[in-house]
Amino acid sequence: MAEYGELVTRQRTFFHTGQTKEMGFRTRALNKLQDAIGKHEKDLLAALRKDLNKSEAEAYSSEIRIVLEEIRFTLENISSWMAPKQVDTPSFLGDATSVIYPEPYGVALIISPWNYPFQLAVAPLVGAMAAGNCAVLKPSEFTPETSHMLAKLVREDFPEEYIAVVEGEVEASTALLKEKFDTIFFTGSTPVGKVVMEAAAKHLTPVTLELGGKSPCIVHGDADLESAAKRIARGKFLNAGQTCVAPDYLLIQREVKDAFLAELKAAIHALYGEDITRNPDFPRIVSEKHFNRLSAFLSDGELVSGGRTDASRLFIEPTILDSVTWEDPVMRDEIFGPILPVLVYDDLTEALDKITSRPKPLALYVFSENTEVQDRILGSVSFGGGCVNETLAHLTSPFLPFGGVGESGMGSYHGQGSFDTFSHKKSILKRKA
Ligand code: NAD
Repeated sequence: MAEYGELVTRQRTFFHTGQTKEMGFRTRALNKLQDAIGKHEKDLLAALRKDLNKSEAEAYSSEIRIVLEEIRFTLENISSWMAPKQVDTPSFLGDATSVIYPEPYGVALIISPWNYPFQLAVAPLVGAMAAGNCAVLKPSEFTPETSHMLAKLVREDFPEEYIAVVEGEVEASTALLKEKFDTIFFTGSTPVGKVVMEAAAKHLTPVTLELGGKSPCIVHGDADLESAAKRIARGKFLNAGQTCVAPDYLLIQREVKDAFLAELKAAIHALYGEDITRNPDFPRIVSEKHFNRLSAFLSDGELVSGGRTDASRLFIEPTILDSVTWEDPVMRDEIFGPILPVLVYDDLTEALDKITSRPKPLALYVFSENTEVQDRILGSVSFGGGCVNETLAHLTSPFLPFGGVGESGMGSYHGQGSFDTFSHKKSILKRKA
């Protein structure tokens, strides 16, 4: 579409004025974004409720607060991130000095998914702005209320030649990907990640791909079962399991399985009430297509808990499936819903072999009190990132770069990781005349 070509040209022209490179411009823009989020907080929470039935508490903590924290941390550190870094020079280069200048790529394209429709569009945007880029944002068509609010918020405070939001279906994304951007940041599924990378290759545009996958959660025999159950229930069922780093499946040592499942059931009820079908705040499944896909898994294995659905409100109860095998349909692709398959192991080596024979996961969680067991698991499986005796929390720390590896993605962001992802490092050797 010609209009996108024109939009990119306008952004590139604006970028070449050099304004976005000034620190004052960047910090003013980030402060403005912070204020705009504050001003529209109620509208954003209402949009997230309409799109996914997220409660105010869940939407605020997992969407808005994370972004506000990211802006705060960025403003606190931006001057040191932007500063040229003097590095050593080898002696054979005599009296020369060496300096690395971080510089913005130019015009960035950010494509985001529906599961955390605000956070996953705006957190990368913060990095793009901090690094001094212009940006075009393409949020998901499956959460139209939030995408629309985002477009409104951005339009009110930023000129289109600096930041623009393109709402629309896949066609809009396809048309945008035909244009030449200076960097592309994509969050979404692995198959679409391949489409994005192929389109980027035509222009040799660098990409960051934040993808998905089946993230294992290992509960070893020596784990604190009560605490593990609480943390796994919270991580798995947040946003009805529609979280890229949610524990996808549970791998548990046989002798503690029954005791653990009793703790897990109790933890689910403590979180959502005795009758979850009556909980007004449990998020819904995003679409009928995903509701049907997930419902088909409910006949896999043996139902231990949950299993009730209501198509009229796209509701699926937090569900535990026991006696699942590696060959069952629920174990083929990322589940992305409130269904937890349970597989047992007797020997850790056998469990690790199964994981490493599959695509590299985005996250992995280990529950064990034994540091040798923890280290063995962390050292033998390649995955994006994860936690020991916790779930999800690694992605909330600005000090931990967040991203996948192999089929679960490439590149990372959060904190300085975001600034670096949207910056080119220009290396200069200086010699006296
Ligand atoms: P998706 O890949 O279907 O869509 C993501 C975005 O890509 C949307 O904006 C969509 O419009 C666009 N898109 C879809 N098909 C396209 C195509 N053929 N060409 C160009 N653009 C296209 O993903 P989704 O269903 O919105 O999100 C769920 C997936 O995202 C899961 O796999 C999940 O694990 C992953 N995810 C990853 C992270 C992460 O940080 N690694 C975070 C959230 C979600």
